[in-house]
Amino acid sequence: MSARTFYIYTLGCQMNVYDAERVAAALRGRGWRDAPVAAEADLVVVHTCAVRAKAEQKAFSLIGRLEPLKRGRPGVLLAVGGCVAQQEGERLLERAPHVDVVFGTHAVERLPALVERRLKDPRPLVDVAAAEEPAPAGPAGAHPGSSPVSRYVTIMRGCDNFCAYCVVPHVRGPERSRPPEEILAEVRAFVAAGAREVVLLGQNVNSYGAKEGWGGFARLLERVNAVEGLRRIRFTTSHPKDLTDELICAFGRLEKLCPHIHLPVQSGSDRVLSAMNRRYSRAQYLDKVSKLRDSFPGIAITSDLIVGFPGETAEDFEETLSLLRQARFDGVFAFMYSDRPHTPAAGLEPKVPPVEKRRRLQVLLGVQEEITSAIHRALVGTRQEVLVEGPARLPRGGGGGPAAARWTGRTAANKIVHVRAGNGGGRAVAPGACVTVRIERAHAHSLSGVLDPG
Ligand code: SAH
Ligand code: SF4
Repeated sequence: MSARTFYIYTLGCQMNVYDAERVAAALRGRGWRDAPVAAEADLVVVHTCAVRAKAEQKAFSLIGRLEPLKRGRPGVLLAVGGCVAQQEGERLLERAPHVDVVFGTHAVERLPALVERRLKDPRPLVDVAAAEEPAPAGPAGAHPGSSPVSRYVTIMRGCDNFCAYCVVPHVRGPERSRPPEEILAEVRAFVAAGAREVVLLGQNVNSYGAKEGWGGFARLLERVNAVEGLRRIRFTTSHPKDLTDELICAFGRLEKLCPHIHLPVQSGSDRVLSAMNRRYSRAQYLDKVSKLRDSFPGIAITSDLIVGFPGETAEDFEETLSLLRQARFDGVFAFMYSDRPHTPAAGLEPKVPPVEKRRRLQVLLGVQEEITSAIHRALVGTRQEVLVEGPARLPRGGGGGPAAARWTGRTAANKIVHVRAGNGGGRAVAPGACVTVRIERAHAHSLSGVLDPG
């Protein structure tokens, strides 16, 4: 009999991409093989996201679309994991009775065993126990969704911050860090397999090891910086209240640490920040931004923002716009607030009407677009070091796309660059190479340029 096959859908954040890689590695380790498409797989796994109402709807709609596949091939198993699985547990089976296994955010490593149990027993299985997983046996394997050049490494799980709008602490549990030796072993294994960059993941990397007494995040960065063969280190996400001077200084000190920080601000209004339980003020946030720019001139700063938090007035929103103009982020992710189960904000009034939330989002994105374009335009004519990740993925929408681009990569400041060969030929260029690129054009979300032969 040929090997059983699996296919994985991954929705949501990098943490899910990382978890999906672990699931894939664990299944491969037990003899399963990758299926090229879901329609041919014996097992379909969905990693869901619950951070906003829309993400949850997307998860249920994907799970619904997989029903005919199961009807067409009755032997196929469907496993649903991630934050919606953790949040809904048994209830997920009521809404989607065709699901075979519900596995929560603590059960990632247990999935293969759950699937094997389900193969022998016709009843659906639910594992949303908070029991800690055993330590992973080894580093995760490559996942089709991630570039083998740049790999995610989870350094901590969960969150203790309880921002008023956020479901993460409820579905991912309390904050706990992975031992530094385990993290370093994983980084070394990825580098040995061809990775040149790692992205260290956590909801609040700044409190890495604090509970466990492991010497803090800046110390971990130093140790990762010493890994031979690694060229770039990134991390996400940093909570502004915990961003220390030590970490700010690390940008100027550690040569592999990329000059980019994602520092979610959420709002520019002190009143809203306090209602969100973010525990910093607008002035404190802006102070950290200027310290970062002093430590590393030209550092790229990106952020997350929420519009339409309950009680957000037109004046509060104006404060957010003025913060955007002051902070001059390189880019932002902006979201319309949505109520999430168990969160205090769900009980707050008055709610901002959906049309008004949508309007504020459009205005905010318009303001940011001008700032991002100006920052990108200023890079035209400069030379940038680009880490090549793979063959060209052209800018979305096609308009103005550099048709001749052959590779796509990123600058140290995390700008996506589409690279064409020019007269230099570039025959030796391959994923993982660091090349110098002369930037020729700025696009809304990326840059394009030509390989610099010199
Ligand atoms: N741990 C990260 C963020 C994780 S969630 C941090 O603290 O920055 C990613 C982003 O989703 C948040 O930064 C926030 O902007 C957004 N978000 C979270 N809950 C939301 C909600 N209920 N409605 C709208 N946006 C939300
Ligand atoms: Fe959610 Fe706040 Fe924790 Fe980020 S820090 S995951 S926004 S509770």
